Amino acid sequence: MSSTAKTNGKVHIAALDASLLTIELAETLKPIPTPGTYTFGDIKTDYMLVMTFDPLTGWSAPEIKPYAPLALDPASNCFQYCTNVFEGMKAFLDPAGKPRMFRPEQNMARLVTSAARMALPMFDPDALLVCINKLVSLESRWIPALPDHALYIRPTMIGTKPSIKVGASDHATLYVIVTPVGPYFQSSSGGVSLLAVGEHVRSWPGGTGGFKLGLNYSPGFVPQRIASDLGYDQVLWLLGEEKQITEAGAMNFFAVIEREDGGVNVVTPPLDGTILPGITRDSALVLLRAHAADPSKQLLALPASKPVYIEERVLTVPELAAASAAGTLLECFGTGTAVLVVAIERIGDVADPALKTITDIVMSAGNGLGPVGQALWDKLLALKEGRDDFHGWSVLCN
Ligand SMILES: *Cc1c(COP(=O)(O)O)cnc(C)c1O
Repeated sequence: MSSTAKTNGKVHIAALDASLLTIELAETLKPIPTPGTYTFGDIKTDYMLVMTFDPLTGWSAPEIKPYAPLALDPASNCFQYCTNVFEGMKAFLDPAGKPRMFRPEQNMARLVTSAARMALPMFDPDALLVCINKLVSLESRWIPALPDHALYIRPTMIGTKPSIKVGASDHATLYVIVTPVGPYFQSSSGGVSLLAVGEHVRSWPGGTGGFKLGLNYSPGFVPQRIASDLGYDQVLWLLGEEKQITEAGAMNFFAVIEREDGGVNVVTPPLDGTILPGITRDSALVLLRAHAADPSKQLLALPASKPVYIEERVLTVPELAAASAAGTLLECFGTGTAVLVVAIERIGDVADPALKTITDIVMSAGNGLGPVGQALWDKLLALKEGRDDFHGWSVLCN
């Protein structure tokens, strides 16, 4: 099948075409390291997927080739103006030993949105997904056959216009690398602690926090260091005088608060542009709503006697502190592809700009995952590992 031809004057601009994918095999394959001996993101596998966009000719034929450095002009737009967008996905082995991805079309759609926000060239997300499928299949020997282990997939798109002139990049490189990963946080039974930082803001109304752009993350490295120095694992990102909660590190935030009628409210901030629209967040909400609609079906392993109510609304640190003091803050957790669901065991509420007075907010469910977080963890992992199915979310790679 030939690419959809678009004419720009006399010039043929090629669309991204998965049928043109070429595979250059490596002469020797690397040894696979023992799981547990490496940390997140360190291991380079045998292959990468690369394609480039040139404004005169369009998309190149996608190539899978041995993992190697990229050669880029030092004036490239991505180095000067941060035209760099990415995705985070995982492939798990199913019970038959076949790799599976979870709702991958959602990642492709989000990458298109991110690229559009950075005024980068557009591409066919379905064509990219076909190529990623091939890469994952070729690299499946890297997926550790252990629970909660996976191949992390990092699609990346950068602006490569070779000019320091301020402006959109009409050249781009789209590449995908993969790396084997185990549980993100070593203590799987415990949880993470968060420092609620108000001085440094991750996102703001009208800003870019709702997109997966590289430039959203590096300004967080200094507050992350402050949190670490004070003994907290991650930053709880706030907005405004009322200490509105946006996200936790690079995860979406959920709180479970007991209601007077015996049920629980599961609260997460709404997608108002300051929140990254996490696919794990969305999946959790879909599962919780389906469970709430008919608890007797036991979609989630939660007692039918404790009805669940889902609220996408503004949540503040003072509200959490008050609930914690009243004993109704049952659990808090973060969600994301890297962690799946992780318990938040305490939140340091900072009272003064000098970071002298910090009061810890604690959850009454204790340190590990509470019932709601645990039920979501169990269901999501079963879906990702292809042990269970829901709406065809788990997609076989072949
Ligand atoms: C990627 C990301 C998430 C989680 O998104 P998932 O699609 O669930 O992996 C949450 N917050 C931020 C800031 C992120 O970058």
